[in-house]
Amino acid sequence: MRDYSNIYIDGAWVPSDGTGRIEVINAGTEQVMGSIPEGTASDVDKAVAAARRAFDGWAATPVEERQKYMIRLNEALQARSPEIAEVIAGEVGMPITWSTMIQAGLPAGNMQTYATLLDTFEFEETIGNSLVVKEPVGVVGAITPWNYPLHQIICKLGGALAAGCTFVLKPSEVAPLNAFILAEIVHEIGLPAGVFNLVTGTGPVVGAAISEHPGVDMVSFTGSTRAGKQVAAAAAGSVKRVALELGGKSANIVLDDADFAAVIPKGIFACYLNSGQTCTAHTRMLVPNSRYDEAVAIAAAAAENMPVDDPSKEGMHLGPLISQAQWDRVQGYIQKGIDEGAVVAAGGLGKPEGHETGYFVKPTVLANVTNDMTVAQEEIFGPVLSIIGYEDEDDAVRIANDSLYGLSGGVWSADQDRAIAVARRMRTGAVDVNGGSFNIAAPFGGYKQSGYGRENGPYGIDEFLQTKSLQL
Ligand code: NAD
Repeated sequence: MRDYSNIYIDGAWVPSDGTGRIEVINAGTEQVMGSIPEGTASDVDKAVAAARRAFDGWAATPVEERQKYMIRLNEALQARSPEIAEVIAGEVGMPITWSTMIQAGLPAGNMQTYATLLDTFEFEETIGNSLVVKEPVGVVGAITPWNYPLHQIICKLGGALAAGCTFVLKPSEVAPLNAFILAEIVHEIGLPAGVFNLVTGTGPVVGAAISEHPGVDMVSFTGSTRAGKQVAAAAAGSVKRVALELGGKSANIVLDDADFAAVIPKGIFACYLNSGQTCTAHTRMLVPNSRYDEAVAIAAAAAENMPVDDPSKEGMHLGPLISQAQWDRVQGYIQKGIDEGAVVAAGGLGKPEGHETGYFVKPTVLANVTNDMTVAQEEIFGPVLSIIGYEDEDDAVRIANDSLYGLSGGVWSADQDRAIAVARRMRTGAVDVNGGSFNIAAPFGGYKQSGYGRENGPYGIDEFLQTKSLQL
């Protein structure tokens, strides 16, 4: 049991002003695995004050010094990797083998990538008679989701520390335990007091207090489009900078010349990773009408063969969803798909056999989906793939772009140039061309209602910088 009684402000573990507690549930066992303080707006005031006091000193700390702290952070994250993997496997339900690679491995790698970038990152440039200097934006309020909880935090923290910003974090109240491990690490490596602060609690209380706080210069939010809109509205009162990494409904275009038997199972995987609880999940598979039935048969077979099992077991299977609320939501979407005319080609309603405990969902493929259906327009956040037919390449691009979202996507073709040409036409922040793999240093972020701003790599440092022109 991991019960944390304090929050972390100004380099010390201190009690919250609130008396409430939030329980954290293990997604695989449905048992309580820990609890955290339910913070208040006055906790946020204290954390912001500490971050403000620390700002001048941290911003003036030489880049090489900041880099040393970041390298130590990476080393400490690596050292506690098995524990982080186990905690997140419990909180989120991602099986331990995956959790080790992604939930624990990615944050450490990302911190190291940011640190290495400081070797070459240019904080100044000359334009005509002007010296343009890049300065830290100030105190950053970070609000993060539960699906890749520590990764989402480090995407922000790495860029902010590199830029010279101080940080107030409100992690997801659904998967917050990993953030306490991070705060312990921050303390252990001796990061100067006030540079990193942790206030836990709910979105409408702690998240809202951060968003509207006049002492916060920038709020960096990752989560649902619904909450992101509220954050941006609350932030407008103090004209603070806002970065939003929001939801997605990404299209995976399989062109007619692709090797269906090879690429469709990969497309299934790009939808189902983390049991579909991935903002970039390729949830709409677009296939030519001329080969529609063949595509559905391959997808259904791949989904039926997808093992589902406990997150505590080693292996490449799918785990449960994070919570009963998510399970209910996903069941509701499957039902809605059926009601609107979709055909269940694999999976469907209910729990997979033998997995009554834990929030497990059957890997599901919906066929005969049209792009105007709810399951094609709204983010489901479960292992549910919708297969949509298209007439020709133009039609495929039109359907892909017919979405409120624009976070990610995929294109598959035997001809790489053809795939790249289609990828360029997609109104989305990223496209995986013929399965191109995730690049931690590439800019990450959305078009349209998937948000604005970019994380990771050099763009992820720029995100936390202001530019000043000195005319010489
Ligand atoms: P969520 O929006 O419910 O919560 C995200 C965070 O915002 C949490 O910390 C929550 O407490 C806080 N919050 C909620 N309401 C708030 C408010 N009114 N003011 C301030 N903060 C508030 O999202 P979630 O369920 O934790 O995560 C799933 C969502 O996140 C999905 O929509 C997913 O697509 C999205 N997501 C996006 C990315 C990305 O990089 N684009 C990455 C991961 C997840």
